[in-house]
Amino acid sequence: MNSKISNISESFRQILHTIPTGVLLLAAAKTRTLEEVEAAIQAGITAFGYNYVQEALPIIQEIGDQTKWHMIGHLQQNKVSVAVKNFDMIETVDSWRLAQALDHQCAKIQKKMPVLVEVNSGREVSKTGVLPEAVDDLIIQMSSLKYLSVEGLMTMGPRFGDPEDSRPYFKATREVFERIAARNLPNIAMKYLSMGMSNSYQIAIEEGATIIRIGTKLFGER
Ligand SMILES: *Cc1c(COP(=O)(O)O)cnc(C)c1O
Repeated sequence: MNSKISNISESFRQILHTIPTGVLLLAAAKTRTLEEVEAAIQAGITAFGYNYVQEALPIIQEIGDQTKWHMIGHLQQNKVSVAVKNFDMIETVDSWRLAQALDHQCAKIQKKMPVLVEVNSGREVSKTGVLPEAVDDLIIQMSSLKYLSVEGLMTMGPRFGDPEDSRPYFKATREVFERIAARNLPNIAMKYLSMGMSNSYQIAIEEGATIIRIGTKLFGER
């Protein structure tokens, strides 16, 4: 085993020790090489996240469906058609316009796409995502779309040095999640809460995360 593979296996084992079963460890793979992604698959990673469709495509084409591919970056309208053909989940739906475009392209290829709605839990002007109080209306609208399956929420939250500072944003996202789950909307299954990164995933799990997105702690510094 070369050193890259053994480092990733070791990080993977260490992280797995600290997460409960039922929490999906998604490898955030931006800037990583094909070799690193392959090493992560060998180590046991079953899902990868990409921020850009263009960056993911050559890797997805090489590796195919041995693993799941999640879109975790802002999805541009002109990339929707390529995205729906290649990804298994879109975690970053943040407008009705994008939801409609996704539904339209999925209809063309007869694919039902699992999606999460991205919440701007930090209310940051510079960030994508829907404000917490606007999530309900978007999801109610989305429940009419035949080719999308709304399965939960994703949030980034503001970046902090101290992960404890992330807790209120994870809590706020969890509250939206529970509120929508309690409405029992048709065609909406609130299964996934995607939140937490290398420095904050333990806090995120305490606050109910079922998908954690880890880059640095798995692959090393970018
Ligand atoms: C890069 C990234 C992560 C992982 O960040 P690390 O700090 O490297 O673990 C998670 N989510 C998104 C959306 C990212 O872009």
